[in-house]
Amino acid sequence: MTFDSNMGGGRPPRQMYDVSAMGLKCAGCGADITELPFQPTGDRPVYCRDCKRQNSGSGSGFSARPQRQMYDVSAMGLKCAGCGVDITELPFEPTGDRPVYCRECNRNRRQSYSGNRY
Ligand SMILES: [Zn+2]
Ligand SMILES: [Zn+2]
Repeated sequence: MTFDSNMGGGRPPRQMYDVSAMGLKCAGCGADITELPFQPTGDRPVYCRDCKRQNSGSGSGFSARPQRQMYDVSAMGLKCAGCGVDITELPFEPTGDRPVYCRECNRNRRQSYSGNRY
């Protein structure tokens, strides 16, 4: 039974496989990869630590989502084509040749679009 919980003190780092003999290169930046936290199978690309962090940073787990830009249209005196309320900002630049809707009406329209088709 090998239960070396107290080896050198502290938690041992994640086991790393020495792959320096395999001449692996990072599929992202081309850096030499000398160790991996898993045994490479050879049929899928491997990434260095930096690239892996970048890959996991962006993508699905996006914490710092930039806010959608809003255009200040308060000077244009636009009214919602649905309820007639004043529109002061829009998520897009109004072209003037198509009706604009307030947030409330936009949501209602989207719901009715997906809700009942005809
Ligand atoms: Zn890399
Ligand atoms: Zn409206």
